[in-house]
Amino acid sequence: MKILVVNAGSSSLKYQLFDMVNESVIAKGAVERIGIPGSRLTAKGNGRQKVYEQPMPDHKVAIKLVLEALTDGEIGVISSMKEIGAVGHRVVASGEYFKKPTLVDDEVIKTLEEKTFELGPLHNPAAAAGLHACMDVMPGTPMVLVFDSSFHQTMPEKAYMFGIKYEDYKAYGVRKYGAHGTSHKYVSQEAARFLGRDIKDLKIVTCHLGNGSSITAVDGGICVDTSMGFTPLDGVLMGTRSGCIDASAVEFLARKKGYDAARMVTYLNKECGVLGISGVSSDFRDLEAGMEAGNERCKLALEMFSYQTKKFVGSYAAAMGGLDCIVFTAGIGENTPYIRSGVCDGLEFLGVRLDEEANNAKNGGAREISAKDSKVKVLVIPTNEELAIARETLALI
Ligand code: ADP
Repeated sequence: MKILVVNAGSSSLKYQLFDMVNESVIAKGAVERIGIPGSRLTAKGNGRQKVYEQPMPDHKVAIKLVLEALTDGEIGVISSMKEIGAVGHRVVASGEYFKKPTLVDDEVIKTLEEKTFELGPLHNPAAAAGLHACMDVMPGTPMVLVFDSSFHQTMPEKAYMFGIKYEDYKAYGVRKYGAHGTSHKYVSQEAARFLGRDIKDLKIVTCHLGNGSSITAVDGGICVDTSMGFTPLDGVLMGTRSGCIDASAVEFLARKKGYDAARMVTYLNKECGVLGISGVSSDFRDLEAGMEAGNERCKLALEMFSYQTKKFVGSYAAAMGGLDCIVFTAGIGENTPYIRSGVCDGLEFLGVRLDEEANNAKNGGAREISAKDSKVKVLVIPTNEELAIARETLALI
């Protein structure tokens, strides 16, 4: 069966078409600038690439063009839309409404639109637009919603609650939801597979370290805690996000800078993190180059990132009462030995011993970077959120 995975943003739409017989990607592409002058689709298939530049005022027009590309004489990989068995849609925020991947029907659309938009105001309306566009163009094809946060729905109440008035949690749903759930689930399962162990017997901390970063405690295959909170702003400092910060400091800073609440949230999401600390870049490659050239603030940003991530690993070992495996994934987790080494440094007391040579080796695949005698296995597992969504979609239908 062929499964199309759609990841719609407010002005963008990425897609991959999988042949699930061997889980291969047979076509993929991205639309940029939907609803903005200069819309374009870059589509790949049959080993070729084609760029479509034409007005795309909304997601429906964009999806129509994607489907045109999929059946195109030159780069097309299918002869008709009927070959697509199902579509998996990435949705960022599930709130408490969706605990697992969900097959779309009228009730699901109603809940998505009426309940979750305010929890993911930038992303969820875009996902709904992508969904409607696909339903219009492919009537009768099963649509599945796969939520970034649903893997975290197994957290116990003591882990997801903030220390606020219980009535306010009940009234407004203010609690920890987490993010990157599809990635955390995928890499924890791949880690168990790599180790040849049953995931039910493993206590794993997964570190998804990218432009946005989150750390998750996976006990027996189930998420028991995660570092992102009500929104992805919480947890470790990131490319441009502050990570957790005393709420009183936020009010104090807002007063000093003359910012209102909305401006303050933009400040904390877009101007802080390692960018704000270094004053140089949000990109870890630039920070490493800066540090090597003697820039102390780049060094500080990198040290803060490793230190904060390490503290989550340690606290999650405590939360689970043990630790069998640490997994690094995403742009930084997969490509930055300096950070992996910084995170593991000092965790020897938990039984973590890195093999520095393996850590520094350039190798793209899933691999072990812990020393042979390390009690805790340390792995690098490339994430693949699109494949994870395709698998979830196939499993559901
Ligand atoms: P996101 O998906 O959240 O935008 P990524 O997972 O792509 O982010 O991670 C981006 C980060 O990964 C950047 O800080 C970048 O510096 C870092 N990185 C380091 N080495 C590489 C590499 N070889 N390729 C891609 N990203 C890398």
